[in-house]
Amino acid sequence: MESTRKHMAQCACGAVRFGFDVDPVLVVLCHCLDCKKASGGEALCLLGVAEDDFTLLGGQPKAFRYTCASGNGPDRNFCADCGSRLFTSNLLSFPGLLFVTLGSLDRLEGIRPGMEIFTSRRLDWVTPPDLPQFDTMPG
Ligand SMILES: [Zn+2]
Ligand SMILES: [Zn+2]
Repeated sequence: MESTRKHMAQCACGAVRFGFDVDPVLVVLCHCLDCKKASGGEALCLLGVAEDDFTLLGGQPKAFRYTCASGNGPDRNFCADCGSRLFTSNLLSFPGLLFVTLGSLDRLEGIRPGMEIFTSRRLDWVTPPDLPQFDTMPG
C-alpha cells in the first residue's frame, strides 16, 4: 500500500508517523498556558487538519484525555517512546478537526500561521508577528 501523503509527519524518534493531503486552512500560533505547559515552549503552532484526511502511517500514539467542565476531551496525543507531542483530537468545539503540531511535520516550509491567539499570555520578550491577534480565542 502506498503510504505517502502530501504532508508527512513523525515524532522525534520516528516510531509514530502520520500524514495528510489537504493544505491546512487554519493555522494558529497559540500562547495559552496549556500550550506552554504541554509543549514546554512559549507558544505552540497548531494546524487544523480534517479527521478524515488524517492517516496514521505507523506506530500508535498515546492519548492523554483532559477532563474539563463541559465534558471529556480533548485528547492530547504523543509518542509514548520519545514524548513528542503530535496532535490534539476529540475537540468538543471543533468536531471533525484535529490540531497537528507544526514541529511534527517533516517539511515545515510553506506553512505559516494565519492568526495569533491567547496573546494575553504572550511573554513580553516575544516580538508579535504581523498577523491578526486575539486576546483569547477568536470570537
Ligand atoms: Zn517517538
Ligand atoms: Zn493553546
